[in-house]
Amino acid sequence: LSERLQNAIKMFRGTKEITEEDLKEPLRQVRMALLEADVNFKVAKNFVAKIKERALGAEIQQNLSPSQQIIKIVDEELTALLGGTQAKLTVADKPPTIIMLVGLQGTGKTTTVGKLAYNLKKKKKSPLLVAADVYRPAAITQLQVLGEQVGVPVFSLGNEISPVEIARQSLDKAAHLACDTIIIDTAGRLHIDEKLMEELQDIKATVNPHEILLTVDAMTGQDAVTVADTFNKDLGLTGLVVTKLDGDARGGAVLSVREVTGCPVKFVGMGEKLDALEPFYPDRMASRILGMGDILSLIDKIKDTTDLAKVLEAEKKIKKDEFTLEQFLEQMQQIKKLGSLDTILGMIPGMGGISQKLKEANVDEKEFARVEAIIRSMTPKERQKPEIINGSRRKRIAAGSGMKVQDVNRLLKNFDDSKKLMKKMQGMAKFASKGGKML
Ligand code: GDP
Ligand code: MG
Repeated sequence: LSERLQNAIKMFRGTKEITEEDLKEPLRQVRMALLEADVNFKVAKNFVAKIKERALGAEIQQNLSPSQQIIKIVDEELTALLGGTQAKLTVADKPPTIIMLVGLQGTGKTTTVGKLAYNLKKKKKSPLLVAADVYRPAAITQLQVLGEQVGVPVFSLGNEISPVEIARQSLDKAAHLACDTIIIDTAGRLHIDEKLMEELQDIKATVNPHEILLTVDAMTGQDAVTVADTFNKDLGLTGLVVTKLDGDARGGAVLSVREVTGCPVKFVGMGEKLDALEPFYPDRMASRILGMGDILSLIDKIKDTTDLAKVLEAEKKIKKDEFTLEQFLEQMQQIKKLGSLDTILGMIPGMGGISQKLKEANVDEKEFARVEAIIRSMTPKERQKPEIINGSRRKRIAAGSGMKVQDVNRLLKNFDDSKKLMKKMQGMAKFASKGGKML
């Protein structure tokens, strides 16, 4: 009776519940998305079952459709599974903080050491990099080059001394140089082997690190799961760094690895350059795995490099159709500051098309110089109103800038595409400034 009563009250209030029928199609989509993102089959299956249990009979919020409500639940659960909140780097109460990077060969240990140093230095910390990979001849040099680029000291004893001894002596060195963070770059192998594991265990026992971070290559997909499991069991990891997420991988491996080890993902690698290490946001990764595009990361970047007010100002101009080639040049400069265009465009759902076009147009450093030359060869009026640039003007501009007419044509076409892109980006920036969430 009480159930009936409740139902009656619900009907009276006009609320609805999610039915088995409502769930069918969205859950199929979710399962497909997970598998497509390279999530382990079992993990995906369990996940979908869990969603079904939670969603069935859930009340549908008034402003949502049933499938929106389901996706909201999926998003929440996936975020929780990925670790819920953002996990930060542990900092020692009493310096130095000791961080040890471990992982298979080629997964990005040394690169990540450099990136971490870059990040820490930006935060006014003074890291010491420790070259404890003595097996690959180039490994020490690679670290020294990175240290030089970042402007931090690198401690090396060549490749005759054991990695354990190097790690031990790095403590004195850090004290001597007044470094507050020690980052140890260790050796990797193509496959896990006992000798390597023993060495890493010895280093751990000697320096007692606050963080043992495993680098996991996102592109290796399911293989990464077993590797991470072994490293965790043998060494006791404190966190994961998922590298090469700038590639095509949708990040399903992140979910599987996180699920198997229970270790938080602390950073993600988004490129080879020093500034391409980002904090890991479970909610954004959830969206990426579900294929919605990593919009919030993008917005963060926009906030970082450009003044939001300026962006909104440009938006007004675009709306009034006053967006000129002059501003196009400025915007291109800002886009370049944001990092590779590909990465950025890849983050925006529905922007694949333009990304492709720009790729075809090969927007790189040289291209940028060409664009600048062409725009500089236009009269102010032409820059204001590109539509007045007819055939003969195009020829003149090409001659003036030392380019071909096709180059001018292509630029004008890109300008048009860019207008569209800008409209989309500014919509998002505005949305972020209101503290919006996609779902
Ligand atoms: P290690 O053997 O684990 O020390 O790996 P390295 O740090 O030497 O990296 C191996 C290769 O992966 C290098 O060519 C790096 O530039 C590249 N790499 C590392 N991290 C990333 C990343 O986040 N994105 C991309 N695209 N490449 C990366
Ligand atoms: Mg290395």
